[in-house]
Amino acid sequence: MLIAMEEKAKQEELDEVMRRIRSLNYECHVISEQKRWLIGVTGNGKGKRRIQVLECLPGVERVIPISSPYKLASLEIKKEKSFLKINDIVIGNGKLVVMAGPCSVENEEQLMETARAVKEAGATILRGGAYKPRTSPYAFQGLGEEGLKLLAKARSHFELAVVTEVINPQDVELVASYADILQVGARNAQNFSLLREVGRARKPVLLKRGMMTSIEEYLMSAEYILSEGNGDVILCERGIRTFETATRNTLDLSAIPVLKEKTHLPIIVDPSHAAGNWKYVPSLSLAAVAAGADGLIIEVHPWPEKALSDGPQSLKPDQFHTLMEDIRQMAKLVGREL
Ligand code: PEP
Ligand code: MN
Repeated sequence: MLIAMEEKAKQEELDEVMRRIRSLNYECHVISEQKRWLIGVTGNGKGKRRIQVLECLPGVERVIPISSPYKLASLEIKKEKSFLKINDIVIGNGKLVVMAGPCSVENEEQLMETARAVKEAGATILRGGAYKPRTSPYAFQGLGEEGLKLLAKARSHFELAVVTEVINPQDVELVASYADILQVGARNAQNFSLLREVGRARKPVLLKRGMMTSIEEYLMSAEYILSEGNGDVILCERGIRTFETATRNTLDLSAIPVLKEKTHLPIIVDPSHAAGNWKYVPSLSLAAVAAGADGLIIEVHPWPEKALSDGPQSLKPDQFHTLMEDIRQMAKLVGREL
């Protein structure tokens, strides 16, 4: 349910409505629209009819039922597109944002070299995993906190923001103390305890789409984060599993317009994990920009042949540089800017 307050509603009236909602065992989420407050009502309380009657309270304009199962992520609740800020980087306001870096943080030389290259090419956010969710328990699992320290060093040296993955609810606080954006990976897209924990963190969350999750299930995952009070969620389409084996995953480009119709959250695309092969990354990147993505997250490695993870899908710095030029051109064509 959504309660729209009148434009002239007073703070005391808002407080009273919220007090009543809570007394019916529901939760309130206040959303400030341009000129008025909206209150998202979620949870399993004492009955929707008892929320409906709050329409009689002073300051309340309307009580609106929300039909979609995801409430806070829905465009029904918030008509304006959401954006978030990290220092002077804005994600989701029309300008494209490019996040780039290695799959895993491997050592200082590798990370600093990549950070320098992606910064020079125009990326504003450095990616790199310190905790890696690997299919095999014998594969490189990441440097852990040592990797987070290297990311922090690269951030201050090159003035880049940092996005890095967290795989365990217990590590959220630690990772949040180093990262600007917490990444939840495809394999954890329905790890509900992790989603709740990042929802309690005071850092933006980059939520990858699970390889087997439908768009509706994906938005329900975002809802877990939003319902814990963290409104800074960035969605990321990274390819889904299909019968096709020529690529690692199938990039679901249609998810971009579909999500734009359903949610106010920003949407970026990860062409690297979709393709699984560096050769296809440029085409998929340009297609994602043309389809309306708010940004991209791309794997770059100075020496892909030596990479400890995802070398075959990583661009070399000069390839990334060329791609950034092409992205700039494509952005112009569709009325966007990098
Ligand atoms: C990654 O970003 O390196 C990663 C593991 O991605 P995904 O969760 O999309 O597979
Ligand atoms: Mn990777």
